[in-house]
Amino acid sequence: GTVYLNGQWLPAAQAQVSVFDRGFLFADGVYEVIPVYGGRAFLLDEHLARLQRSLQAIGIDGNDAPSWPTCIAQLIAKNKLEHGTVYLQITRGSSNQRTHLPTGSLQPTILLMTQSAPLHWGTPVPAKAALLEDIRWLRCDIKSISLLGSILLKQSAQEQHAIEPMLHRDGTITEGAASNYFGVKNGVLYTAPANHLILAGITRNWVLKLARGSDIEVREEAFRVDELSQLDECFLTSTSREVQPIGRIDDIIINSGGCGPITQQLIEAFHNSKRHHLGM
Ligand code: PMP
Repeated sequence: GTVYLNGQWLPAAQAQVSVFDRGFLFADGVYEVIPVYGGRAFLLDEHLARLQRSLQAIGIDGNDAPSWPTCIAQLIAKNKLEHGTVYLQITRGSSNQRTHLPTGSLQPTILLMTQSAPLHWGTPVPAKAALLEDIRWLRCDIKSISLLGSILLKQSAQEQHAIEPMLHRDGTITEGAASNYFGVKNGVLYTAPANHLILAGITRNWVLKLARGSDIEVREEAFRVDELSQLDECFLTSTSREVQPIGRIDDIIINSGGCGPITQQLIEAFHNSKRHHLGM
């Protein structure tokens, strides 16, 4: 495919970055993954607002960046992307030596590329999550490209035949390695509050909005590890998985392993918002 790198459109195989790039040496950068349905970015303003928050949190000046909506529309068109995602990464740039402290005025490195994926309709099969201790740092609100903790956790989950880790810190559930968790108890929808311990997923926020709009009671309160066996329903959200029911957490079976009614309602509400975006 065609990628955007520092103002140039290039075939992916020809796009090259310096070995001194701070993204390569230190994972000193941030990123976004933006869904595309019907050739158009979905919830783009929300993703771009989060990008600005990430850039600001690590002190990268995004003033020289291109107009994101134009650049993303061009990228989608050049790649003839119908359904999939746009990957956007900005690192602090490169100097000619490796020092932890950035020196001089660096030019951020900007990369955009696409990944295609089928458009999902219908209810996904409930899946297993693996309960694991959250070993990541304490600024999970920054969408950092430093993902070693998440990779180790994903590998542990895979060894347990789970699709995603369910992370806990000090007895409460934080989030997944690349997703946010929701639980339903007595008709109330719970999810961890958007503090430094989680990345406030754009899908999470959208699902909260859909739930409030459907008169489902919502509480942004983390649920406890010792409450998991009492959950009536559980699901996770992310840009790539949308709303994914969880039927099992380790050996705890939720809702007899099926998709619960509130989860089902939110999957349908999510599909309706996609239909609306597609003009259907
Ligand atoms: N938490 C983490 C740690 C993530 O990496 C992601 C996905 N990037 C999410 C949550 C879900 O966020 P979103 O709904 O914006 O994809």
